[in-house]
Amino acid sequence: MQFYSTNNPDLRVDLKEAVIRSLPADNGLYMPETITPLPQSFWENWKTMSLAEMGFHIAHQILGDSIPADDLKTIVNDAITFDAPVVNIEKQVSILELFHGPTLAFKDFGARFMARTMAYLTQDDDKELTVLVATSGDTGGAVASAFHKVAGTRVIILYPKGGVSDLQEKQLTTLGENISALEVEGTFDDCQAMVKACFLNREFSLKHNLTSANSINISRLIPQAFYYFHAARQLEAGVEPTFVIPSGNFGNLTAGLLAQRLGLPIAHFVAATNINDVIPQYLAEGEYKPRPSEATISNAMDVGAPSNFARMKDLFGDNWEAMREHISGVAVDDDETRTTIREVKETTGYTIDPHGAVGYVAAKLWLQASPESHTVILETAHPSKFLNVMEKELGTGQIDVPERLACLANATKQAKLITPDTAELEAYIEQTTGL
Ligand SMILES: *Cc1c(COP(=O)(O)O)cnc(C)c1O
Repeated sequence: MQFYSTNNPDLRVDLKEAVIRSLPADNGLYMPETITPLPQSFWENWKTMSLAEMGFHIAHQILGDSIPADDLKTIVNDAITFDAPVVNIEKQVSILELFHGPTLAFKDFGARFMARTMAYLTQDDDKELTVLVATSGDTGGAVASAFHKVAGTRVIILYPKGGVSDLQEKQLTTLGENISALEVEGTFDDCQAMVKACFLNREFSLKHNLTSANSINISRLIPQAFYYFHAARQLEAGVEPTFVIPSGNFGNLTAGLLAQRLGLPIAHFVAATNINDVIPQYLAEGEYKPRPSEATISNAMDVGAPSNFARMKDLFGDNWEAMREHISGVAVDDDETRTTIREVKETTGYTIDPHGAVGYVAAKLWLQASPESHTVILETAHPSKFLNVMEKELGTGQIDVPERLACLANATKQAKLITPDTAELEAYIEQTTGL
């Protein structure tokens, strides 16, 4: 399978280039050159396979012969070691829980598959792969956990001092081994600028075999298609789901579109955002107007220029009408999100996180417009990751904190404090790689 750039369909690269370089030089995003529906043989067995086994067939359909079948099976089996159960909370409202992975957010699916794919693709290289990542919170934790102890890789995470929550910081700074953390005396933008400067220094970046683990990497999207199939097969036979997707950079929604192109029957998509509603506005008006993001309580969706819009546009041949036939947009503000967290608890007993609550409002609106639908809301993270917001609405001590998050409170932080100076970062990388 070859991959093309959304900015230039004639530019073709192989899987290794697409995954290790992440972004084409023309600033587009990589897409598989063809997406062919899964064969009849898949549909005869798909409901009885394990999640990992089904995932292998889906990944194989997208990647073709880029990774030999047995190796791809191993990668998927190692990556997908947790479930994604559907919980029915009302007659036409189901929740797809994507928080059963090690860092309690759906990003574990993408990060774990990417880590193993990167290690596989570079196994014959003579240098270790150095993954450089700037984080404002959740991505760093998922990436750190995903690469922890993966042979042939090391990870350097930059995060803004005082800019991430205590537990998020613990997720980044307590693993040790091949994961190291740099606490930058600056902002997230400083961290990103430093990482970018290192990559732009091409000689340096090649010498140290640098790669990035950011969310536009095509290898992160592939495993996110798995759980759309898994959700659909957990519903009553014959029900065609409408997926409601709390969205920021729209990677999750794009993975849903891939699942649909692979032949999964999906009635509709609802793109649910907070007040950072660039895509709902585009769907309503036909004009794409990115703007600076604003802070909300569903902060993983505070995105003003959603990177995967390029892929969504590409999948619909830049046809606004066609996109609107498949995707509707809804924007929800913080007040309504807070009220919804309480209402869902009172009426259904379910504890929904702020991102899922945005989805719930959108699902209810969709059911008014289309009463025969069955909505499946993607619950993108566990509520305990947003303890302050949740306890304010539901009361102190009302949120279960899973052991793997709770135990971090006592773990010892190990991070090196640095100033926002690229030279200091480069010196650290040189010292770490010994090159
Ligand atoms: C990253 C994230 C999102 C946004 O997902 P996209 O794929 O960027 O749209 C939503 N919720 C949570 C909890 C996240 O961590």
